[in-house]
Amino acid sequence: MRVYLDHNATSPLRPAVKAAMLAALDSHGNAASVHAEGRKQFHALDGARSTLAWTLGVNAEGVIFTSGGTEANNLALRGTQAEYLLVSAIEHPSVLEAAKSSSKVADIVPVDGNGLVRLDALKAKLGRRNTLVSIMLANNETGVIQPLNEIVDMVHEAGALLHVDAVQAVGKMAREMAGPSHSDHINFALLKCDMMSVSAHKIGGPVGAGALLVRDRIELSPLLAGGGQESRRRSGTENISAIVGFAEVMKSPALYPYRPVWRDMLETALPPEAVVFSKDAPRLGNTTCFAIPGMSAETLLMALDLEGFAVSSGSACASGKVGRSHVLSAMGVPKELAACAIRVSQGWTTKRDEISAFNAALTRLHEKHKLRNAGQRQNHG
Ligand code: PLP
Repeated sequence: MRVYLDHNATSPLRPAVKAAMLAALDSHGNAASVHAEGRKQFHALDGARSTLAWTLGVNAEGVIFTSGGTEANNLALRGTQAEYLLVSAIEHPSVLEAAKSSSKVADIVPVDGNGLVRLDALKAKLGRRNTLVSIMLANNETGVIQPLNEIVDMVHEAGALLHVDAVQAVGKMAREMAGPSHSDHINFALLKCDMMSVSAHKIGGPVGAGALLVRDRIELSPLLAGGGQESRRRSGTENISAIVGFAEVMKSPALYPYRPVWRDMLETALPPEAVVFSKDAPRLGNTTCFAIPGMSAETLLMALDLEGFAVSSGSACASGKVGRSHVLSAMGVPKELAACAIRVSQGWTTKRDEISAFNAALTRLHEKHKLRNAGQRQNHG
């Protein structure tokens, strides 16, 4: 039996999403064509756009479909008319690298030991004309949630624009941000930001579908030149089945609020010496990032895999390679401890029993590790 606890990397396709996508694949035609087949595709695209707009609180014209969160982040940072970019130190590489490699001037805003953006530092760096700030809502590694209500006011008071990477937040945090909204999801209008990146595959939608949500009158230069789709902001024939799947997943119930109970159950059963990162800050209910000093993430990850558990170490999108996490490093976590960091992320398939089974397996592996260490000490003595 396998237990999949790596939903922040990607989540299995929901059955309703698969059914909607298969139905969409039975149709053909280009949404730009005027014949009946084309019009049918356009209708599907239009419907999906309306669903996204309705569930996320944005005007339909403000939805730019992309190939995922990475492209949405690149479009926001490289397509903006702003000349000065301010990004937090714990952003996803698709923000950090886009900022670094763009022709604009980029600067990093530091975070504190919990991974929260240092508001004093942000304030001090604001004030230049033509600034775009990019700060994620929820972090993919630790799940830490930034105080965006405060940030958005600070950014706007300084005359700057705010882009929010909400890829990990959609479907995993809801009403607390959205207020009494009509959907289960975070709400673009209530967040008051200027641009927001979303992606389908972190909550059971297809890989390769995302969107950049933009407020009226935000000017963007397209990254892809061509046929002028998406109101001239993203060229390329639309992937209708993926977009239909994206819209379908937005109608699914959010994970919030019942997951924190299981996350806390998991964390309570960790060995006493375990360190849970960002524990003292608001966090996603589905994410636990912890380290057991002395148990290397690489070894533990493989041992857990052999026991049937899929988790990850370091950054989700780089879960194949066990490198040093820039997030933990920005939080000031010592290198040796960061090398032991494991991320467990729950999702729509997760069951309570799976968390209990994970706890039992981890306890077994930890006991073994302690015995091995004690044996080694004896041999040396
Ligand atoms: N932003 C965050 C916070 C992410 O966690 C990820 C993927 O892990 C992305 C952006 C990239 O999204 P996509 O995989 O859809 O390109």
